[in-house]
Amino acid sequence: MPLQEHNYWLTTTEFPAIDASRPLPEVVDVAVIGAGFTGLSAARTLAKHGARVAVLESQTTGWGASSRNGGMVLTGMKLGVSQLMRKYGRELTRRMYAASLATIDCVEQIIREEAIDCNFSRCGHLEVACKAKHFADYTRQAEIIEVEFNHKLRVVEKQDLAAEIGSAIYHGGMVDEISAGCNPARYVAGLARAALKAGAEICEHTRVQSIERESRNGEPGWKLSTSRGVIWAHEVFVATSGYTSSATPALQKKIIPIGSFIITTEVLPEPLARELSPRNRMIYDSKNYLYYYRLTPDRRMLFGGRAAFFPENDQTVRRSAEILRRGMIGVYPQLADARVEYVWGGTLDFAFDIMPHAGELDGMYYAVGYAGHGVAMATYQGQKIAELMVSDRMAAELKAEGGTADATGNAKPENPFVGIPFPGAPLGMYNGNPWFLPLAGAWYKFLDWVS
Ligand SMILES: Cc1cc2nc3c(=O)[nH]c(=O)nc-3n(C[C@H](O)[C@H](O)[C@H](O)COP(=O)(O)OP(=O)(O)OC[C@H]3O[C@@H](n4cnc5c(N)ncnc54)[C@H](O)[C@@H]3O)c2cc1C
Repeated sequence: MPLQEHNYWLTTTEFPAIDASRPLPEVVDVAVIGAGFTGLSAARTLAKHGARVAVLESQTTGWGASSRNGGMVLTGMKLGVSQLMRKYGRELTRRMYAASLATIDCVEQIIREEAIDCNFSRCGHLEVACKAKHFADYTRQAEIIEVEFNHKLRVVEKQDLAAEIGSAIYHGGMVDEISAGCNPARYVAGLARAALKAGAEICEHTRVQSIERESRNGEPGWKLSTSRGVIWAHEVFVATSGYTSSATPALQKKIIPIGSFIITTEVLPEPLARELSPRNRMIYDSKNYLYYYRLTPDRRMLFGGRAAFFPENDQTVRRSAEILRRGMIGVYPQLADARVEYVWGGTLDFAFDIMPHAGELDGMYYAVGYAGHGVAMATYQGQKIAELMVSDRMAAELKAEGGTADATGNAKPENPFVGIPFPGAPLGMYNGNPWFLPLAGAWYKFLDWVS
């Protein structure tokens, strides 16, 4: 098959049919912007609590990063635990790490409850060290994680690595058995079905253009102007990730959209697939400019990386195919003759401090900043922020009736990412146009060279 510039996962997935002729609802309790993991997970939870929810999606369900990713359902965060402890202290880091483990259970529970057929499997992840000093750091990290967070990672010495990966280029590895893999497009399609089943409405081809505060019958709320007309909502949940736009300018200034690209090979013979990844792990390396890779359920090698820092377009996607193929053969010379059949790209959302952030900004709820760890964390944050909205609403209603918020007996849901400082660009030098990406790309390449 000739190379297709097309997302392979989509060839395996059917999305729920949305009736495009249905008019936009005039009034809802919550308008969720973005139909990816974050927005759909939130919509499902909110609708289950009885809220009238409309998910407004400028393209189609799952169109963003949620259908385009590697399907790695990963524990941990982008920043290492030592950095987290230095920055946030022991107690908050403990809560963050516990939340990162809970994200995997959250995904598994939803998949089970909603019977989503998406090849979810707790196959574990393997991080591989590109340099000897990266491997030394694995040993330190594994010790801290065991002592501080009571979670066991397995460090794999170079001489034992063949049991994990059919590549001789690495200096050792670290395995977390808790992580999982899935087919992300099937998963996001299943989440959409679950949100619809719970009673949420999904409005495709509905781009939110601007949002203004506006009261209605004395009730405070929001007027959202969209490409299909106006909708009024009591509350807004912004779930637009790397595609955040000028409709939410305050959030846009805090999120850097970064391109990530993936190729998949033809279906590989079973013995070769087993040799490349004997335990079928989700694998990524220790560089800043990293590669991530795995076998697909039908035994293709899926190989991804930040081949270009800019978000996807025809040029960056086409160029990435060759860059990634070379990277893949560098890791796996066995794949020199394997045909690459698909290449595609998507946009990740990085905050300036490379942390997930969630809560309220300008009176609207949001969850963003997953930095390539979004399959699990986006699902979790969607659910947690939806629970926070329900609890805030109950408290407000009780207050209006003359009671006190505490009388609900409803503590705010645990979420260690709410309320942490959410920095913008240094000196405010960013308005949503990431002019500095080529510099950042060069900087990370330099760091990979020296560190
Ligand atoms: C190539 C690639 C590989 C990745 N691999 C992994 C991986 O293996 N593991 C992992 O954990 N994470 C991975 N990620 C990250 C992960 O996919 C994301 O963090 C996650 O999908 C974010 O989900 P989301 O719902 O927040 O955003 P998205 O899925 O990006 O959804 C946002 C949606 O908002 C819509 N939107 C934006 N603006 C508007 C507007 N004004 N009006 C209406 N709609 C709007 C967009 O159309 C889009 O559909 C990867 C990402 C990419 C791009």
